[in-house]
Amino acid sequence: TEAGLHHVLALGLALAAVPTAAALFMTTAPYGRHLRPGWGPAIDARLGWVVMESPAVVMFLAIYAAGENAWEPAPLVLLALWQFHYVERTFVFPLRLRPAARLPVAIVAMAFGFNTLNAYLNARWISHLGDYAPGWLGSSAFVAGGLLFVTGWLINRRADRALQRLRADGGTGYRVPRGGLFERVSCPNYLGEIIEWCGWAIASWSLAGFAFALFTAANLVPRAVAHHRWYRREFPDYPAGRRALIPWLL
Ligand code: NDP
Repeated sequence: TEAGLHHVLALGLALAAVPTAAALFMTTAPYGRHLRPGWGPAIDARLGWVVMESPAVVMFLAIYAAGENAWEPAPLVLLALWQFHYVERTFVFPLRLRPAARLPVAIVAMAFGFNTLNAYLNARWISHLGDYAPGWLGSSAFVAGGLLFVTGWLINRRADRALQRLRADGGTGYRVPRGGLFERVSCPNYLGEIIEWCGWAIASWSLAGFAFALFTAANLVPRAVAHHRWYRREFPDYPAGRRALIPWLL
């Protein structure tokens, strides 16, 4: 049945988080400051981001709309939360990348594949396979998850904007970010992103949501550690008390 297949795919994604994290601890994904030769052809990073993130907007919407419960209130609110994040990430965030930035086609292809699978898993669950009565919007899972989602989104967006403002003078290099959560960790944007998708997992209370949250952490924990090491290497006066991702802990 489709429900069985969906379950197997979501479980597969959750289990794949472990080897993915292990691989990314050994080999940092080659984009941004970690871009290096040997990963095949690269394209304009702004185009790459739009292409690789677009399934999370377009396919998500199409799959959602085909569901039997697409016009029910709780699925509609979950749809709104998802699109609230992804429309910005797909069509606004890339505009602020540095104009000469490049992204390997291999990264674009892998992220496109991941986003397609993830769009299917989450959209199909909330609008068709899952069961959300209108009362779900008043449940403690939805309220707590929704609050966590918004908190994570605010942290993520605030941090991404602060990073991109470091180049407001037209520079293309890297600087030590300061202020707010940057005083505690090198990558508050990744921390916010992980919190956000944990919130989604709780608000939707679904295996698909938990698998995505796990996969996000599998991607971003190793990357935060790599960024943190890079900062310490590049800036000898890098603030000593700053951690990679979680204040005082990691
Ligand atoms: P980064 O923090 O590496 O970079 C974000 C932007 O800020 C880039 O434009 C980068 O430039 C610039 N920047 C970063 N640090 C500095 C600095 N010290 N000085 C000047 N400019 C800087 O984030 P990512 O590109 O890895 O990710 C972007 C967004 O996508 C984040 O919000 C992240 O959470 C999200 N994401 C989500 C994933 C998921 O699994 N859900 C996976 C990957 C990302 P440059 O590109 O030149 O380095």
